Amino acid sequence: METAIGVDLGATHVRVAVGVKDGRILAKNVKKTVQQGDEYAVSRQIINMVRELPREFIEEAVEIVIGTIGPIDPRTGSISPANLPFKRVYLTNPISSELKLPVKMYNDCVAAVIGEKFFGEGRGVENLVYVTISSGIGGGIFVNNKLLLGKDGNAHEIGHMTIDFDGRLVCGCGKRGHWEAYCSGKNIPNFVRLMAKDFDKNVLEKSIVYSKLQSLDGKEIFDAARMGDQFSLKVVEEIGRLNAIGFANLINLYDPELIIVGGAVALNNREQILKPILEHVEEYTINRVPEIKFTKLGDEVGLYGTIAAAFYLKEE
Ligand SMILES: [Zn+2]
Repeated sequence: METAIGVDLGATHVRVAVGVKDGRILAKNVKKTVQQGDEYAVSRQIINMVRELPREFIEEAVEIVIGTIGPIDPRTGSISPANLPFKRVYLTNPISSELKLPVKMYNDCVAAVIGEKFFGEGRGVENLVYVTISSGIGGGIFVNNKLLLGKDGNAHEIGHMTIDFDGRLVCGCGKRGHWEAYCSGKNIPNFVRLMAKDFDKNVLEKSIVYSKLQSLDGKEIFDAARMGDQFSLKVVEEIGRLNAIGFANLINLYDPELIIVGGAVALNNREQILKPILEHVEEYTINRVPEIKFTKLGDEVGLYGTIAAAFYLKEE
């Protein structure tokens, strides 16, 4: 039986799997991402992990597809990752020449939307958006069954759309006012401190997060809001309103039938994330609001996407 090899390269973990056309994963190998070495260290790790998979499955493989953190450079088959200690990581050429298979590469959020479209909640959906809210915010998009890629395969940098014209917060990319600068796991603490600045001192000083504003993480603010903490509730509501603006922009741009949401921040705080989006999104949309639901593929959505891409997405 024909198989395909999928690789999901994240900042913390590398997942390698061999799967078949109906979406079954036959074998899998997960390891912590190598954090030192030269610009070929990651590709060597991936090659070794593929070789550790059962030989009989590997011999039947037709292609390797990599879903990776970006930004990606398809011309050189490399990435220049913001969240790994390498300036550049070469992927497609070294892996292809060592394993003697064609290698394709997508941004991880693009891989995720492919996973949903062929093996997840997005099956049969022609107009589909996938949004991940995790340490960053990213997306992948199908319009009229067509995967959107852009000139460099980076047509999905939805976390860097401007949602705050005043640009009160600086994003990890260096620009101001981006969605991710306010609502991603990594940046929610900055937003909490921003809100604390002008907040009613009487309420703020009673807040259970007041004493740790400088060392807060995103999880603590959602937990505190769940406990009824007034300041935290207000912060979560405001994050929700900003998320609603982000989602509304996606709805106005792509007119999807379905938006699937993944990523740790969203999946660990489902109601607190989804409810304010549903409450506020129509304030900003002109298009009909689609169904919005959570992924059922968990943190393997991108891995499924790489397997699906090998069988269902042929180069045009
Ligand atoms: Zn940005």
